[in-house]
Formats: sequence, C-alpha cells, structure tokens
Amino acid sequence: MGEYEAVIEKLNLRKQELEERLNKVENSLRKTHAKDWSEQAQERENEEVVERLEESARIELTQIYEALSRIEKNEYGVCEICDGPIRAERLEALPYTNRCFNCASELE
Ligand SMILES: [Zn+2]
Repeated sequence: MGEYEAVIEKLNLRKQELEERLNKVENSLRKTHAKDWSEQAQERENEEVVERLEESARIELTQIYEALSRIEKNEYGVCEICDGPIRAERLEALPYTNRCFNCASELE
C-alpha cells in the first residue's frame, strides 16, 4: 500500500457517489405511476432518461471495481492491451482506465 492510497481513496469516493445515485434512481423508479395518460407518457420518457443514466453509472461502477481489484493484484497502471505503463497524467484524469493512451485511441 501507500503508492496508490490517493487513487484508492478517489475510486472509493466515486464508487460511493455512484452507488448512492443508483439507489436514488431505483427508489424514484419504484414510485407509483401517474394516472393521466399524458402524465404517463411523460413519466415513461423520464424513466428512459433515468435508465440511460443508470446504465452509464453501472458501467463506471464496474470499471471502478475492476480498477480496485487491479490495485490489489498489483496490476494497476499497466495497459491491458500492450502491457505498457499507463502515464500518470492519464491515470490522474481517468483513475479506472485499463488502457494506455495509444491503445485507447486506436479503439476509438
Ligand atoms: Zn497500451
């Protein structure tokens, strides 16, 4: 430990934030539905937006879990594709990334 303490803290904070957000989303989706037809249509639209947000939060959470397990296995900061090191600036901006800049830009 030590080297990645700041990263772990950052990841855990973000993880908490996302988990709280997902909990809120799930609670709001469970609320009773409006009776009026136009209200219902509006509600469904809102739900779709919320579900998309939920989806992206889940993806990010998965990436965070993976990053935390890479730190545990001492694989953090190593590119999954080319096994090269991921630059510190990149990890600073995207703490859960598992690809170096070159490999990530090739895929985009
Ligand atoms: Zn790479």
